Order: sequence, then structure tokens, then C-alpha cells
Amino acid sequence: MHEVGLVDGVLKCAIETARQAGASRIISVRLRVGDMREVVRESLDFAWEAMREDDPLTAEAELVVEEVHPRSVCLACGAEFDHDRWHLRCPVCGSGETSAIRGRELDIVNMEIETPD
Ligand SMILES: [Zn+2]
Repeated sequence: MHEVGLVDGVLKCAIETARQAGASRIISVRLRVGDMREVVRESLDFAWEAMREDDPLTAEAELVVEEVHPRSVCLACGAEFDHDRWHLRCPVCGSGETSAIRGRELDIVNMEIETPD
């Protein structure tokens, strides 16, 4: 379950950023996750609920996930196309030589924090 490692990394990064900003708590963290990362949403939420309590800064933080649908460009004919996790072949010329444009994201987009007055 690589969601545990993912959540661990996100929490560490969020906590460090919040400390530097002098936050008293983190309200929410917005994450952008590409479908190609094969993140299981239920596992992600489960790991988040379990691990956020380890630090008072994140104890009540909400995880917001933006899912990014994959898109690739064909290296043979240059066509751009949307696809799912399994169908990467170019629909125009049938080539399997493609390069991902999006769908591999794994980024913290932003976070909402509360600071003492
Ligand atoms: Zn093509």
C-alpha cells in the first residue's frame, strides 16, 4: 500500500511548511494526483485519517484530492489524446511510442492554515 508512504511524505512537507509560516494548525491540504500513479482513493483517505493525528498541526486537517486524467502525445504522428490507465496506444496511428503530458502528477497544490492573531 504505497498510499502510506505518500501520506507520510505529504504530511511531513505540509507540517514543515506550516511551521515555517508560524501556523497554529493546518485546515486543509490540496493534493493533485494523476491517475497513472494508481493511488487508491480509499487507501489514501484511510492512511490520512490514521496518520494526521500524529501531529497536532494536522490532527484535524482535511485532505482534498484533485484527480488528473491522463493525456499523452504520440511520438510517431504527434497526436494528443486522453486515455485511461491501461490504453496508452495512439488512437490515430496505433503507435505504442507515446509520452505522457499529464496524469503522473503527485503534488501539493496548496494548503489552508490558521495562524495565531
Ligand atoms: Zn500516432
